[in-house]
Amino acid sequence: MRTHHLAIAVCLAAACSSAPAPRPAEPAASAPPAATKTPAESAASSSAPAQQPPGATTPPVATPPQPGPAPGAPPPLSLDESAMDANADPCDDFYQYACGGWMKANPIPPDKSRWTRSFDTVHDRNELLLRDIMEKDAAGQTDPSDPYAKKVGDFYATCMDEQKAETASLKTLRERLARIDALKDGKDLAKLLGEMHVSGTRGFFSFRSIQDAKDATQVIGLADQGGLGLPDRDYYVKDDAKMRETRARYQEFATNMFKLAGASEADARKQADAVLRLETALARSSMTRVERRDPYKVYHRLDRKGLVEKAPSFDWSSYFTAIAHDVQPINVAVPEFFTGMEAMLKQYKLPDIKTYLRFREIQGAADSLGKAFVEENFRFNQFLTGQKEISPRWKRCVAMTDAALGEAVGRTFVKTTIGDRGKAIAKDMIQGIEKAFDENLGSVSWMDEQTRKVSAEKLHKLDNKVGYPDRWREYESMKIDRTSLLANLKEAARYEAKRDLDKIGKPVDRNDWGMTPATVNAYYNAAKNEMVFPAGILQTPFFSPEAPDPTNLGGAGLVMGHELTHGFDDRGRQYDGDGNLREWWTPQVADAYKERAACVANQYDQYIATDDVHVNGKLTLGENIADIGGLKLALATLRTKGQMPRGNAKFTPEQQLFIAFGQVWCQNATPQERRLRAVTDSHSPGRWRVNGPISDNEEFGKVFSCKPGTNMNPVKKCVVW
Ligand SMILES: [Zn+2]
Repeated sequence: MRTHHLAIAVCLAAACSSAPAPRPAEPAASAPPAATKTPAESAASSSAPAQQPPGATTPPVATPPQPGPAPGAPPPLSLDESAMDANADPCDDFYQYACGGWMKANPIPPDKSRWTRSFDTVHDRNELLLRDIMEKDAAGQTDPSDPYAKKVGDFYATCMDEQKAETASLKTLRERLARIDALKDGKDLAKLLGEMHVSGTRGFFSFRSIQDAKDATQVIGLADQGGLGLPDRDYYVKDDAKMRETRARYQEFATNMFKLAGASEADARKQADAVLRLETALARSSMTRVERRDPYKVYHRLDRKGLVEKAPSFDWSSYFTAIAHDVQPINVAVPEFFTGMEAMLKQYKLPDIKTYLRFREIQGAADSLGKAFVEENFRFNQFLTGQKEISPRWKRCVAMTDAALGEAVGRTFVKTTIGDRGKAIAKDMIQGIEKAFDENLGSVSWMDEQTRKVSAEKLHKLDNKVGYPDRWREYESMKIDRTSLLANLKEAARYEAKRDLDKIGKPVDRNDWGMTPATVNAYYNAAKNEMVFPAGILQTPFFSPEAPDPTNLGGAGLVMGHELTHGFDDRGRQYDGDGNLREWWTPQVADAYKERAACVANQYDQYIATDDVHVNGKLTLGENIADIGGLKLALATLRTKGQMPRGNAKFTPEQQLFIAFGQVWCQNATPQERRLRAVTDSHSPGRWRVNGPISDNEEFGKVFSCKPGTNMNPVKKCVVW
């Protein structure tokens, strides 16, 4: 997920929790993390990590659809014996046992760099449903229940029109670059940067709304680090061979982009050098992802006055005028970043700063431009992720349209997916999971009565959202037409930035969703103490109203238990039931917790991500605690169901739950993608999302008759919850 800010919301899959994003608008699990900028990103939120890979050239809307997954293909079974490896020993490597057959039979599709059995198959089905809706909207056969169907149709049709990308989008880009070229002084710079931010272009830092971590009833401003083109600060500051190679490729990529935008070879090289120098300076002042997981390290209520003091050379009043919000209360998440920016503004001359801003515009727009830009952008993305082919244009357009108008197209989408019955069953399952957590609280050895009591209170205050929002978002003020894709993306970003900044100073909107209904993901938001499960994920193999309890619990039950445990992971536990960051546990209990969390961090540190790269136990700690807790809660919930029909000749209901759980994470990924995620993703690779929680589960050994001391039933287990 990506998420409500620094650390506030955490999602089930994909890189989100450490991304400096304001809201959990999270890409599907199949999407690469913040590798390169994409239009969907500029459309949906000014700072969110990139979503989908760059696209290919396909015909416009009116021609027959491109091949995708066969629409008639049956969804994967919740428990699929053919996905298993009968020769593998479940006590030695449960992931291989549950997924060995699947991994062999499911190579990574050429237009992906990672392929996960659950997330990606569901994502592909949703994508087809969305395309159908969007094509009908584009053809004027609109759904009367969606008042914004015309906007959806116009957005999608313009996106599919490749000729317009070559001409109209390029014209939009040239106009934007001309405004950068016209900058004369610092006042102009601050004003233009504000305008760039509200239209979805990254640069220097980010600014948006956030609930005050220490008073969750207040919505204030958030000034945060940002402005990088590579996936993480480590790419600029680490000095190993792989990072040096990546920087060289990035420079080459920037050179080629400048050339495409009209620069000579020699000028383009100089400009690319300037970009790398400026971004490296920003990276050096940026906090690491691991540090950013500490909510106290990213909380500095300095307000406007304090922000100005950190970077007095920047004309803040022009900036705030440009974003049309005179914000005073501000969390300056990383004060040193703004001190660094101040030094940079003094060191670099305006021409270099303009070059940097030009590249931010070009890279951010690349996917919405013509073939040459798209392909150049893909080549760099390919280097980072190992993806073989560019994704078909319609897939990129579906993602961009969903990012821009997700709660418009979602009105039609949800009718085809989760029904009232499905919603009722899902809510019932959540209640079961909550009850299991409540009961478990009573038996957690390291807690005292006081902490137990307040934790139960937090649990009872937890708010759940299932399927889609009670009140749909309105898009009245978003102006979409069929002129230019890039202009539409900028308009969608402007709408979103205004919607976001307008929250400052107003009461918290508890109805607001951070994911679109079609998203295959879920999140927990600590500031609101809420769990959110979009309709997009509540499908087979995660969930089906027709599926038996063991497999529903191994899939969706695991997801629910995972999100619930986030409320009590190493970061989430620091927020009370009202979403306030404070010390609300006794110090002894907090210390006992930290000791157990350290056990988990150490355990995952041992796991290999790819080659010589290990999983980062501290980066993935919250997710791993959530996985371990989620599995335990799903099993405990199954046990409250009493005797049930076996339903499967080979496996007991408990075994079915474990296998269904394992099969959620069956996955193939390129070595490049694994390497990228080891740095950027707060989630562990599929193999370790299975074998980690399995080997920490106190019941698993009995259920699969694994002797103590086997790999999956070690004597020493890390149990937090
Ligand atoms: Zn999570």
